[in-house]
Formats: sequence, structure tokens, C-alpha cells
Amino acid sequence: MQPRIFLPRQSTAVRMGGKGTRKAMAVRRVLTLWNEGELNGEDTRILRAPSLEKPLPFDAEMIEAIRDLWETFLDREDSVGLAAPQIGINLRLIAVRTRNFDVKGREQRRLDSEILVNPRITQTRGDLVNMEEGCLSCPGVNVEVSRFPEIKVRAFDDEKGKKLNKRYLDFAARVIQHEIDHLDGKLIVDYEGPVYAPKKYHNVVQSFFDNSGSL
Ligand SMILES: [Zn+2]
Repeated sequence: MQPRIFLPRQSTAVRMGGKGTRKAMAVRRVLTLWNEGELNGEDTRILRAPSLEKPLPFDAEMIEAIRDLWETFLDREDSVGLAAPQIGINLRLIAVRTRNFDVKGREQRRLDSEILVNPRITQTRGDLVNMEEGCLSCPGVNVEVSRFPEIKVRAFDDEKGKKLNKRYLDFAARVIQHEIDHLDGKLIVDYEGPVYAPKKYHNVVQSFFDNSGSL
């Protein structure tokens, strides 16, 4: 692991969220590798576990997972993406905002977001681009991460299993790559880029890296 630099700075992550308008489903707690005081062993175990694909037709467990992920995602104004393991569900399922990142408002956010089930990146293009990312599961921390600027994704995009085959560019491509990483138990702290954290998180983040990123 390369040395990491710790500097206090304001979070630069792009945020989103708001209440969903689908039928009321459970808003779940977002799991984190640590809180301000200590590492979260149980959450880490779930966040690190590889998530499973479920075949069509989706069963009741999968449909509930899709609805809970959507609801929790829309409820978090501080997120542009959320993956199922972040709410304690090890299924291959992500919610992402893919358009109009600068436009505020709950309804707009809902319209600009998608659910991707069993997402697979089938093609990558362009030179890797570095950018700082934040993650709800790594509170307080930003990490510089290299991502492809263009990807092609195959997935299902609703609970009935409607097929999607689509190209995503730039920030949308970045968000999707970040969320698919979660499905493989990978988080931004696993990348080798510089890490930035405010002072109150220095000790716990340092102990995370002293534990080699696992518990
Ligand atoms: Zn994340």
C-alpha cells in the first residue's frame, strides 16, 4: 500500500437525495466502515462481502431489496449513488443518479436516477481520469480515484427485469463504477490515491489503514 496523505479539508463530494414518491418502503441505515470514534466490525464484514446475482424472475426478497434501496437512496440528500451492501443487503443492485447533477430538487433527483440490477460493465473507453470521491460508507473521507470516462453497462433496470444496455459518460460513468465496486466489496479506501480526512476522523482512519483495511 502506498503512503497516504492526511489533510483536513471540506468534503467535495457531490450530494443528492430526498424523499421518494414510490410506495412507502423501509429507509434503511447506511453501513459504515467506521464512525467518529471506532471501526465498525460488523458493518465492515457486510460491506466487504461479495454480493450475489439473482436470476429472473426476481423473488420477493429481491423486489423488497430494490424498493428499500431506492427509498433509502432518495432519502439521502448527500449521495449520488448507493449500493445494496451499503444498506446491509448482499445482492447485486445499485441506485445511481446519472444526469443533471447540478439541478436541485427532490422530484428532479428522482427523475434523474436509475436502479441497475445485476449491472455489468461490458466495455470501457478512454484514459483513466483522477478525481476525489466521497462515500457514505467511509464517513469524512475523500480519496482520489482513477476511473474510466466512458463505460457500457448491461443490467436490468426495474423489478420486472426490463433489460438495459447503455453507454454512460464522465461523472455518471464514475458513479456507476464506484457503486459496482461496492458489489465486489471494494471501497474508495482500497485505491492507492491520496486520502483526505478532517481532523476528527484522523485517528479512526489511521487505525483502519493500520489494520490493512480489514477487521
Ligand atoms: Zn460508496
